[in-house]
Amino acid sequence: MKFEDFCFDERLLAGIHAIGYEEATPIQAQAIPPILEGKDIIGSAQTGTGKTAAFLLPVIDLIMRSEHNGSTRGLIVVPTRELAVQIDQQMEGLSYFTGVSSIAVFGGGDGSSFSREKTALTSGVDLIIGTPGRLIAHLNMGYVKLDQLTHLILDEADRMLDMGFHDDLMKIVSYLPEKRQNLLFSATMPPKMRKMADKVLNDPLEVKIAVSKPAERIFQAAFVVYDTQKIALAKYLLQAKKLQSVIIFCSTKSSAKQLNRELKGLDFVCEEIHSDLLQSEREDVLRDFKNRKLNILVATDILSRGIDVEDIDLVVNYDVPNDGEDYIHRIGRTARAASTGVAFTFVNEKDQRNFLEIEELLGSPVPKAKLPAELGEGPSYEPGKRRRSGRPPTGRKRKPRKK
Ligand code: AMP
Repeated sequence: MKFEDFCFDERLLAGIHAIGYEEATPIQAQAIPPILEGKDIIGSAQTGTGKTAAFLLPVIDLIMRSEHNGSTRGLIVVPTRELAVQIDQQMEGLSYFTGVSSIAVFGGGDGSSFSREKTALTSGVDLIIGTPGRLIAHLNMGYVKLDQLTHLILDEADRMLDMGFHDDLMKIVSYLPEKRQNLLFSATMPPKMRKMADKVLNDPLEVKIAVSKPAERIFQAAFVVYDTQKIALAKYLLQAKKLQSVIIFCSTKSSAKQLNRELKGLDFVCEEIHSDLLQSEREDVLRDFKNRKLNILVATDILSRGIDVEDIDLVVNYDVPNDGEDYIHRIGRTARAASTGVAFTFVNEKDQRNFLEIEELLGSPVPKAKLPAELGEGPSYEPGKRRRSGRPPTGRKRKPRKK
């Protein structure tokens, strides 16, 4: 779908072209028309789908078409300063020719940034992008006029709830006029999110961008383990069967290096690949892997997208990837073309919650495999529970603290 099809103001189209967007992404094609009609929206979409422009473009257009007289019309609430800055940067580009103004306000700066924000907010700005705490600090001072506000956007709402911002969000909402358009974007939709959406949104339309599903030919299983069991389990899986070509993904360079060292010590023909290697070194390693001179590649996510090695027998997620898309990209290294593949994920206690979110995105749980008896019992899979330790319980009591 072309941006011209939305009948945006010419000045907004000029910004879209200047920034280099040609076609609308799926979330933009689905969300922009109902937002232009004034509907409330719940959008399930992750970062990377184009969701920011999906709400910025129609909101800028609606503000341009209204009489905007210096009072604030839109408020975008986000969990982190990084996201606030990122959205403000996209806003700068898209709104360049439109005359719609914006400011990002977030905590963590010095006193002078607060007073700069205060000056900008007092003189009036069309769109405010901010983190909850900082917004409340400004709202409490009384100089931010929100009585003309027409659009509230909650971005990465699930993260805001996870970070404990529920009450702050409700407080911010209490400052806003009742009659307004509400847009909520979130990668996941846990029940607590539904509850909040019921309070804040009015008869919302749901717009969902399904994550790409992994190929059905991939056999997936997860091992629930303590960190101390991971190396032994990797060794067990690699020795159980003759494997030509295996990729093991680690979430950090240091864990990739350590695992490669351990496997080499056990006489596996393996190499590591991560951003500490020169481009030429990475290419050498990859070539050897493709030519089967190397059977095992221990890699960080540098390798999860865009490489095309055929016929990988096994993908191991030594650490749980950050999100569902990364998971799908990683396990998609196996079962390419017509082959079938196997993907195992090691889930320690700390990563259980993250793994549950991935399962929610996939739409079904990943089967949990039993650990080999010689490794002992692993932890139970209880993603709702808060736990930190990466070691099995020893049965020892804690020493009392010295006074
Ligand atoms: P987001 O999901 O909003 O974080 O966007 C991800 C990236 O896609 C950002 O770098 C955007 O600038 C870019 N982007 C958003 N919409 C489009 C589009 N229609 N065409 C090309 N790039 C886009």
